[in-house]
Amino acid sequence: VRPLLTAELLSVGSELTVGETRDTNAGDLARRLTAAGVEVLRMTALPDDLAVVTQALSEGLARADLLVSTGGLGPTPDDLTRESIAAAVGERPGVDPGLERWLRGLFERRGATFADTNLKQAWRIPSATAIPNDHGTAPGWWVDRPDGRVVVALPGPPREMVPMWDGFVLPRLEARGLGRPSAVRLLRLTGIGESLVAERLGPLLDRDADPLVATYARADAVDVRIAATGIDAAEAEARAAEMAGRVAARLEGHVWATGPASWGERIAQRLAARGERLALVEAGTRGALATLLAEPLGDRLAWSLVLPDGGLESPVDAAEAARADAGCDVGLALRVRPRRGDTVVTVAIAGAGPRRAERRLAFLGGPQGRGRAALAAAAILLERLGGLEADAAP
Ligand code: ATP
Ligand code: MG
Repeated sequence: VRPLLTAELLSVGSELTVGETRDTNAGDLARRLTAAGVEVLRMTALPDDLAVVTQALSEGLARADLLVSTGGLGPTPDDLTRESIAAAVGERPGVDPGLERWLRGLFERRGATFADTNLKQAWRIPSATAIPNDHGTAPGWWVDRPDGRVVVALPGPPREMVPMWDGFVLPRLEARGLGRPSAVRLLRLTGIGESLVAERLGPLLDRDADPLVATYARADAVDVRIAATGIDAAEAEARAAEMAGRVAARLEGHVWATGPASWGERIAQRLAARGERLALVEAGTRGALATLLAEPLGDRLAWSLVLPDGGLESPVDAAEAARADAGCDVGLALRVRPRRGDTVVTVAIAGAGPRRAERRLAFLGGPQGRGRAALAAAAILLERLGGLEADAAP
């Protein structure tokens, strides 16, 4: 059998191409396929147009081992994915008696009238196997091509599509031979810009290398993603880990997480490791720091106080008072003030490191500046809790 190493994703529906609906299906499937070691060659959104979808399917089948479509499996005339697949593979759809029985049963149980347009959802082409849908009326199709390629058609609603993928499609693709053994490592960085990261990593960022090292500037971090393949999972893991070590060595003191953790999760881990609890007080932030940290901190947060603009004179005293009043180990005070379109950030921490306040300038004002101020405070706190030391990253 042909190994399924490459895939293309087609998101079908004019609601996508007019911008009424965001295409989340393609990204969700791309993440799942990448994790399975499949290279996603492209993702395309298409209108409800028989010729356009048929052509995209034909072209995709010439490039990729696996083609996955979502959407267009409804009962109405503008749902054309079944017709398009039939045209692309040169087969004629007909009503499948088993699917028809199942579909009529669904309507009966709901006491709904069965309109004949619904029969479309009981269609099948000879080379297709129906993929059961426990959350809707549109079964999917699994189509085996003579050359070993596979076409999978799933309905558009994510609450139908995702269980069908996880419960039916993925296990069968894996049994059939899906992807290359692969492993991914993620290093999350603070206190360094993406361009400086790129300079430090230099030739490690070669676009054709394996392990493949890439940088991504995100709102809460610069991320370095390392993806390696191997002859088996263990070799892939070992190669990714070796490269992660080389990358980390060039970025010492900047790695705050190894893996997809948030600031709050890392701070919670450090507090747990130290057996400590935290109290927060913030002014001028409209609660940005509590929003960032409260949920992941859980019981590690003794309390959190949000003050209005100008409500905090001395951050150093406020941090000490917060710690004492809450009867906990660490107190943090954050003060935010706008200055000429940017945001001046002052952070003081009692109970972890020096008493003096630290100042930062956060780029931009308004909600963006406040969000960045909260991230700056989280970074200072994690550093004080020992979260940036090489042996502290989990
Ligand atoms: P159904 O039989 O349930 O109508 P369908 O396969 O016909 O399934 P569509 O009619 O194409 O699905 O889409 C139904 C709904 O699913 C859309 O209104 C939208 O809310 C959601 N949806 C469709 N495609 C996507 C997508 N790519 N990403 C996220 N949501 C989507
Ligand atoms: Mg529909």
